[in-house]
Amino acid sequence: MANDTGLTFLREALPSGSAPLFGFDNSYARLPERFYARLDPTPVSAPRLIKINEALTRELGLDPGMLATPQAAEVLAGNRVAGGSEPIALAYAGHQFGNFVPQLGDGRAILLGEVVDRAGARRDIQLKGAGPTPFSRRGDGRAALGPVLREYIVSEAMAALGIPTTRSLATVATGEPGGRETVLPGGVLTRVAATHIRVGTFQFFAARGDGEALRLLADHVVARHYPDARDEENPYRALFDRVIARQAELVAKWLLVGFIHGVMNTDNCSIAGETIDYGPCAFMDTYKPDTVFSSIDHGGRYAYANQPRICHWNLARFGETLLPLLDDDTDKALAIANETLATFQGRYGAALMAGMRRKLGLFTEDDGDGALAQSLLDAMAEAQADFTKTFRALDPESDDKARPLFAEPAEYDAWAARWRQRLAREPHDAATRRAAMQSVNPVYIPRNHRVETVLASAIERDDYGPFEEFLTVLARPFEERAEFADYAEPAPADQCVYRTFCGT
Ligand code: AMP
Ligand code: MG
Repeated sequence: MANDTGLTFLREALPSGSAPLFGFDNSYARLPERFYARLDPTPVSAPRLIKINEALTRELGLDPGMLATPQAAEVLAGNRVAGGSEPIALAYAGHQFGNFVPQLGDGRAILLGEVVDRAGARRDIQLKGAGPTPFSRRGDGRAALGPVLREYIVSEAMAALGIPTTRSLATVATGEPGGRETVLPGGVLTRVAATHIRVGTFQFFAARGDGEALRLLADHVVARHYPDARDEENPYRALFDRVIARQAELVAKWLLVGFIHGVMNTDNCSIAGETIDYGPCAFMDTYKPDTVFSSIDHGGRYAYANQPRICHWNLARFGETLLPLLDDDTDKALAIANETLATFQGRYGAALMAGMRRKLGLFTEDDGDGALAQSLLDAMAEAQADFTKTFRALDPESDDKARPLFAEPAEYDAWAARWRQRLAREPHDAATRRAAMQSVNPVYIPRNHRVETVLASAIERDDYGPFEEFLTVLARPFEERAEFADYAEPAPADQCVYRTFCGT
């Protein structure tokens, strides 16, 4: 891709004797050339380092001091290419709102390379907003700083909530406009992911009838993410099975914290089962199963309660791409795919129910638990109760906190009586139960109105104090801290956020 910025790309020249920034080993770049486009990021005029994620830096086995150097800032801005990096933009396709687009690809993201973290897991290091690529179509290849900070906040909050997710290692302000609304200030996010391979990556090759690439891709994913599948009689069936399991668990976890992804296109469905692509995502305040925030989701396709169904739909698209690998006989391949896909509902249901039991402080299983949980949700919907606050307020021994959250306390009282009858059949004492409940029902989530306030301070007033404080709050979501009590509160009526935009 032509570099028309007039700037020369610099290869990293750290002072001699210093270790390289990242210990890259780039397995995806060793796949055939038709899997990606090789190109360097496009430099920006005035890079300014905004944030380094020190905890993640250590997790990756990197030296936090070194990431804070001016040279490192240039790498994180895309003005310098780190030693050992083999920058590539990945090719992929995808169904967007149900319509198939045979070529999407990284239009503004560049994978710098892969590192093996301290736990031995391979992680992608990617710059998002790093300039145009052959997949940019009409886009500028850039990201606006606001959405970059938003992704940083929400992805790190998700990680702290124990939900599989891509992570945010750093953000840089570019000093230039960027993103679809080109008047906004630009930013670059350094995103860390178990993988950037998506359902859409498989669809890219399937749509081209490139069976050889499909097999190479599937083998790569098995080797990297599901090595135990290799020992199965049909490793591709095992691959499908494992991806279904991860996605079923992921979507259950989203529902259990009130998370709405907002743009569950197949190109945003990670093959490793992480939450990826924080665009118009948001947490639900008031419990309403049909909640939609995204300004472009007119039909409510990606509404809160629709997410399991969409996840299943996306996995069906994944299964279709695997058909030629599952069996040489088309009918047999279809039967295998359908049989495997049919496990989704049971797995999702089991994950949701297990999580609901934990939220309600139940250690044992009873056939009536589903109905018990549902009647609480129904009462919450009726009362327009805040999802996060209500679960946190539940206390085996006291109604003081939960009862006032219901406009019609009689409904809550009736439910609480049933709940206590059920708890009476449980083996644990109240203190153990309360502690267990508090370890799964968060106090703090990235509430939309808070996110908006923090971004406004950062972007409009260059004040990053609120951003830093918000990250501190969200890093320990289950631990009540008096000084941060306000962060647990839903938006006042005049600050409710009803719409989010696809900026990232
Ligand atoms: P997303 O909505 O972030 O999942 O992006 C969908 C597709 O649009 C991907 O192929 C992106 O790379 C591409 N895209 C989004 N924004 C831009 C941009 N500013 N410049 C170029 N491509 C973009
Ligand atoms: Mg995407």
